[in-house]
This record gives sequence, structure tokens and C-alpha cells, in this order.
Amino acid sequence: MFEKEYLMLPGPTPVPPRLLRALSEPLINHRGPSFKRLIDEVTEGIRYAYQTKNDVLILPSSGTGGMEAAIVNFLSPGDKVLALSIGAFGDRFATIAQTYGCIVDKVDFEWGTAVDLNVVKAKLAADVNKEYKAILVTHNETSTGVCNDLKGLSEIRGDHPALILVDSVSGLGVMEVKTDEWGLDVIVTAAQKGFMIPPGVAFVSVSPRAWAAYEKSTAPKFYWDLGSAKKFLEKGQTPVTPAIPQLTGLREALQLFREKGREAVFAKQRYLRDITRAGVKALGLKLLADDAVASAAVTAVWAPEGIEAKAINKRMREAHNVVLAGGQKKLENKIFRIGHLGYGQHLDVLATVAALEMTLKELGYPVELGAGVKAAQEVIMSRKGLL
Ligand SMILES: *Cc1c(COP(=O)(O)O)cnc(C)c1O
Repeated sequence: MFEKEYLMLPGPTPVPPRLLRALSEPLINHRGPSFKRLIDEVTEGIRYAYQTKNDVLILPSSGTGGMEAAIVNFLSPGDKVLALSIGAFGDRFATIAQTYGCIVDKVDFEWGTAVDLNVVKAKLAADVNKEYKAILVTHNETSTGVCNDLKGLSEIRGDHPALILVDSVSGLGVMEVKTDEWGLDVIVTAAQKGFMIPPGVAFVSVSPRAWAAYEKSTAPKFYWDLGSAKKFLEKGQTPVTPAIPQLTGLREALQLFREKGREAVFAKQRYLRDITRAGVKALGLKLLADDAVASAAVTAVWAPEGIEAKAINKRMREAHNVVLAGGQKKLENKIFRIGHLGYGQHLDVLATVAALEMTLKELGYPVELGAGVKAAQEVIMSRKGLL
């Protein structure tokens, strides 16, 4: 293929050339000293990203495997959990807990909105016998482009003994997560979102409180046993053959992350979000998320009345080589999603807005060519020097 493709998905993301080179290093013995150095460096790098001193364990899986690990290691069949869902991934977390026999008290919030912390407060207050063993929450709900307030959630939990288990698969490395300061017990993320490497590894951070729960957990586990992963990590190894290329790629990704600095990375992500939102709004399209809860990783947009979201994505891909994500579950064919996390810059989102204008016009939606681009450019010019 000769044409450049704009992979504007909320994962997998494009991989920067420097990481592609690191991904193709020769394989090494995963029971030898080089591997110990590799995993130690990677673990330290992940701790920097997580802002934690907790253990962080790396699993050979996609993000969902990490979510399953969060359930089977710290809960038991019959445990009551409070599952907060604002979209498809919140539903998935609840389903995993149910699959392993937890009694799931699921609270659904309208898709496109964030968790209403007052509802959580009331739920915890009503739990006088402190039966909830955990609160399940999605940090960044990729299916709707909404970000939940983890700090606020942790404050509301207060001294309730429930663990907070977080799916931050598309949040970590993109938006601030202060694991220790906010008292978040278990946080799951994966390689192919904010960390920009191919899918195949997930990470799970574990607080001392979560390890205490692990000791009591009776849920079946073997591949996902984090206690076993911790024992092996102490020797600089993993229980099973790890995804070595992903780890050499990840070492480089974490190095990049450190070189740029957490704050600068997060600021850049918010910048790309703001450019995208300004451009799309100027075309008269409606966004799912309000500004106050808008994700810095992905923007979800309602297809205009009378135009199918799938037709927009098809035209974007076929005519402009811009690859967008569609809607999931009940939002299928109703929305399209623009990913703007990881390896990308302002001109990528500007190009996407430009292509969107042409696509909409071609599909019969009234747009004034240049209106979205102009609004996007105005955001870019107001933030000179922030690449
Ligand atoms: C991508 C994603 C997942 C699932 O990750 P897989 O790697 O596809 O298993 C889970 N949660 C969120 C919020 C995600 O964005």
C-alpha cells in the first residue's frame, strides 16, 4: 500500500518508528539475566506511569485478560460487588464478575454520561453491613468517550472496606491516574492504547489491601494468578513465556513517556481532544460527552439525522484513508468514534476533521467546507508550541 493510512482508533494505535525498531529486537532467554533487566526496567517504567509504589504485574494478554485477573484474584464466588457502568466496557467488567459467581449490584448510567457520585454515595451509605467487597469502575469508557472521576470516587468510598478495581485500559498513559494518592487498589491497563505498542500485554497494579483480599480469594485461577506472577517477578521472571517483543517495545515506550514527562503527555492528549471537539462541533454535529467529562483518548460523535454512522466510516476509509471506530452495542451505527491517543499530533486530527467535512458533504449533509477545519485551527493557534 502506497497511501498513508490514518489509524484514528481508540486502540490499537499507530506505533512510532522508534518503538517498531524496539519491537523487532532479537529474542532473549526469558529465564536469563537480560530478561531480568528488561522486566525490572519495564516494571519501574510502568510504576512511573501509574504513579505508584504498588506491585505492578505484567500479563501476556489483551486488556480483558487483565480485567479477568482483577476479578479472580481479589474476589470470591458469592462476594457482593458494586459495578458502575457507563458503557460497553463497564458492562464487560460486570459480566466478568458475574461469570465468576459474584453477586453483582450493577448501576447503569446513561451512555454518554459519567458515574454520578451521589448515586455511589447513597449505595455505600445503604450498605450498612459493609457487604460490598469491591467497586468496579471504568476510568475512560472507550465506547462513549467519557472519563470518570476516580479521585472523587475514592473520596466517596472513604473508609468503606470495598476495594476499588479500575479498568483504565484506555486511560492510563493518556490521562492522569494517581494510583497511590487516590488510594486505587487495582488498576488494569493494556499495551495497545496509551502505550502505543501492539496488543498482547496487560498490566495490573495491586495495593497492599488488595493483596490481603487475594489471600482470602477462592475464585479459580491459574493463568491469571497474580500471586504466582509476583513470586516469579521477584526472580526477574514470569510464570509463563512472556510476550518478549512487546516488552522490549514497552521498555522503549516507557522511556519515551519519561523523556516527554507525564504532564506533557497528558497536556498533549487534552490538546488533541480539544482540537477534535472544536472541529466536530463547528460542523453542527453532536458529541456524546459533555466537555466536563470528555475523554482525552477518544471522541464519540452522533451521526447526523438521516445518515448512518457506518456510511460515514466507510466513506472516510474508502475516500480518505481515515480509519475511525464505530459504535458498540446499542450505539452501533448511531455514532462514530475518533481516537486521538498515543502516537499522533495536531495535523492528524486536523486532517480527520477535513476528511469528515468532505465525507459529510458527499453524503448529503449540509456543511460549509472549511468550517470545522477553521475551528480546529483556531484551537491549534491558541496553543502555539504545544506539540
Ligand atoms: C480496549 C479496552 C478494553 C479491552 O481491551 P482488549 O485489549 O480488547 O481486551 C477494556 N476496557 C477498555 C476501557 C478499553 O478501552
